[in-house]
Amino acid sequence: MDVNKICIVCPKGCHLNIEMNRDNAFLRVTGNLCIRGEQYAREEIDNPKRIITTTIKVIEGSIKRVPIKTATSISKSQIEDFITSATSMAVNAPVYMGDVLTIDGIQMKYICVIGRTVLKVDTKL
Ligand code: SF4
Repeated sequence: MDVNKICIVCPKGCHLNIEMNRDNAFLRVTGNLCIRGEQYAREEIDNPKRIITTTIKVIEGSIKRVPIKTATSISKSQIEDFITSATSMAVNAPVYMGDVLTIDGIQMKYICVIGRTVLKVDTKL
């Protein structure tokens, strides 16, 4: 079976034709202009990964939730575990853009990066 995908590794956007074997595993690719396209095609078929973004709760923050993203691509099969784990997590304000935090999932620990600074609200006012 063949699958057509556009390589997203660089702006050229090569149109890939990916052949798979009877077990739906990667066999070969055509249409790529470089080896990175082959690596992308192989990973897309055998173990697709993505950088995932979501938000988590901020306790005593100037806003209620802060955006986070995974520091590296995670397998598509781990996305639900990551989102479920992040949904039940909260951090204390202040947090700063670029801070790193670890989310304990059931399948693994996810290293994430905070996407925005959230200062602490002065509750004594
Ligand atoms: S195959 Fe190579 S040149 Fe083509 S889009 Fe992918 S990375 Fe870019």
